[in-house]
Amino acid sequence: MFCIRCGAECEDYEEGGVLRQRCSRCGHIHYQNPYPCIAVLVVNEQGEILLGKRHKKSIYPGKWCLPCGYIEYGETYLEAALREVKEEAGITSPADGIINVVSNQFDNGVNSLVVVLLSHYRGNETLKPGDDIIETGWFSIENMSTLPPLAFSADEFIITKYKNMLAEGSMTILTLEGNSVYGH
Ligand SMILES: [Zn+2]
Repeated sequence: MFCIRCGAECEDYEEGGVLRQRCSRCGHIHYQNPYPCIAVLVVNEQGEILLGKRHKKSIYPGKWCLPCGYIEYGETYLEAALREVKEEAGITSPADGIINVVSNQFDNGVNSLVVVLLSHYRGNETLKPGDDIIETGWFSIENMSTLPPLAFSADEFIITKYKNMLAEGSMTILTLEGNSVYGH
């Protein structure tokens, strides 16, 4: 690879047991980190969950997933969650709490850290797929085998975890007060 600062060629550089790329001219080290992402488990008043079918040009095309995406620079994870649900399903459904945090290491090389939020939807807007989602729907989770094929095993885990907590009456979510800090 070439340096993002000066364009010179980079070379292998081992630091703390991790192999990185360092610029041969300016010495800039190119750190690689997982991408910060959000996913949202949106549940309606019937207890159904919101899933979207992925566009053929996305990774894992034609499979279904929870609304999810990258957190943009300058955006809080809660704003990202609100935006992704709006973009992918056309509805406004603020998050109520954190249900899980997942590290994903996908076989296409993408590493992500996903804050998974729970959102109880109380509106009656019509679903409207958008962004890289071509179809959206509400799905019963009474029988997991009736769900459409899921793109991410992490989503399956999250849905199962939610279902189990509901059945056991042990819903544990981290609430969101003070979770977005501006300034210092
Ligand atoms: Zn450089």
